[in-house]
Amino acid sequence: MKLVGASPTAEISNKVRALTAAGHSVINLGEGELDFATPEAICEAGIAAIRDGDTKYTAVAGTAELKAAIQRKFARENSLSYEPSEIIAGAGAKQLIFNALLATLASGDEVIVPAPYWVSYPDMIRLAGGEPVIVQCSAAESWKLTPAALSAALTPQTKWVILNSPNNPTGAVYSNAEMKALTDVLLGHDGVLIMADDIYEHVRFEGEFATPAAIEPALKARVLTVNGLSKGYSMTGWRLGYAAGPAWLIEAMQVLQSQSTSNPSSISQRAAIAALDGGIGFMADWIETLRQRRDIVLAALGKIDGLHADTPEGAFYVFADCSKLLGTARPDGRVISSDLEFASYLLETAHVGVVHGSAFGAPGHVRIAYAVDTETLRTACDRIVDACAKLH
Ligand code: PLP
Repeated sequence: MKLVGASPTAEISNKVRALTAAGHSVINLGEGELDFATPEAICEAGIAAIRDGDTKYTAVAGTAELKAAIQRKFARENSLSYEPSEIIAGAGAKQLIFNALLATLASGDEVIVPAPYWVSYPDMIRLAGGEPVIVQCSAAESWKLTPAALSAALTPQTKWVILNSPNNPTGAVYSNAEMKALTDVLLGHDGVLIMADDIYEHVRFEGEFATPAAIEPALKARVLTVNGLSKGYSMTGWRLGYAAGPAWLIEAMQVLQSQSTSNPSSISQRAAIAALDGGIGFMADWIETLRQRRDIVLAALGKIDGLHADTPEGAFYVFADCSKLLGTARPDGRVISSDLEFASYLLETAHVGVVHGSAFGAPGHVRIAYAVDTETLRTACDRIVDACAKLH
């Protein structure tokens, strides 16, 4: 446990709760969770599951009906075909990523993690006994891993490469060609597994969706494709994720799951079938709303000298460079010397929670999640603009 820490995003949320409890009106733009309600038909399927008495243990990796719905999803949306033995459902994508790493990593194994990264990857890798190998990506490369950087990071100890598109925290979306360039590199490295974290698949404003197993079928036997309902369907609390990959890996993950959490909630599984089979038509409105919110944040940043972000293509985050504000002084005279201190300033004085970039392996930045309702977001942006204007 000495190797790992608590999730920084959860810590920001705790601070927000404490300030709120002390009577402040705090807006949390730190959490990666949409404010939209889970669609009615999906909720009804969960309620029906309870009424039908579907409230018992199920097969560890999910019911046959859910696996069939996941098969249909992969076939329909990603042109990928999987057998039931190649599919597992779990309590969120997070649990599946953790299980995959725990099932495969031994001491000395390396996992390539492009930075900026989702906060949990490095800690999960360390918990599983492996070594995160952080590969820094740059804003100049639209925050994307380049084939050259990937090649340079691969060693005989590399066990996994983690790819996440659309990306948390940058919103970067890899095109088919960009993903193909990466899978071309990996074709030459037989022992390396590829984790595709596709959790933001549907949260895209521009561009195509590229997932490694579909982009390079020759790699399919080495790819674990992880997805779930949390982000696209606004179902974070239902805790339902799924993964597809080679049967040996799925089997190992299933053994781990059987000895830890067992099956994901039977109720959530029924809801997931309704979600996956129900179509994604409803998402178009959500994406339009998110696009407007994204533009509200970008417009606010445009008013601030010293805070800059390029337009993200997906997810619901703006990853802003705050390095020009470092070295400036707050109204109380305290100098802001790090992204963490800038985020603390925004929280303490503007009562807006954002997450410092260091948490994602990119110091000098902050992540602004625009997943709150539009009016609240406008208020938060006004507060950020005011707070930054007071720095000197
Ligand atoms: N992967 C990424 C990149 C995420 O941002 C998150 C949630 O924040 C997850 C996985 C976990 O999602 P789930 O709620 O399905 O566990």
